Amino acid sequence: MFRHLFLLGIFLLPLHSNANPINQPVTNQKQQLNQPKNTMTQYSCEYCGTKSSSISSLTAAACPRHPNGPLKGKHKLYEGSQKASYSCKYCGTSSSSLSSLTAAACPRHPSGPLKGKHAPAL
Ligand SMILES: [Zn+2]
Ligand SMILES: [Zn+2]
Repeated sequence: MFRHLFLLGIFLLPLHSNANPINQPVTNQKQQLNQPKNTMTQYSCEYCGTKSSSISSLTAAACPRHPNGPLKGKHKLYEGSQKASYSCKYCGTSSSSLSSLTAAACPRHPSGPLKGKHAPAL
């Protein structure tokens, strides 16, 4: 009886050790599936929050909230990380998106109170 279980254990052990190499390619595939999500990173304009799939297409278009005036310059790449909420570097006002943050005038703008929009901290 005991000898029979012992033989069964020897027979089953190699099966368990073989299960790991089968699982490893699965985890590798999951990592590869995550990569396309990273390449879908969107680039945002620091002035208006406009999003673009590439920096070149973002900075090719005129920005309606450019500090020199509407459409007086191109979008500027926001170099900070994407966050759940963005804070103004002048006054600390926070907003859930760059576009809503930069839509409002900033009471502590360096050009004067309400002379410019909120600017996101990086
Ligand atoms: Zn812009
Ligand atoms: Zn502000």
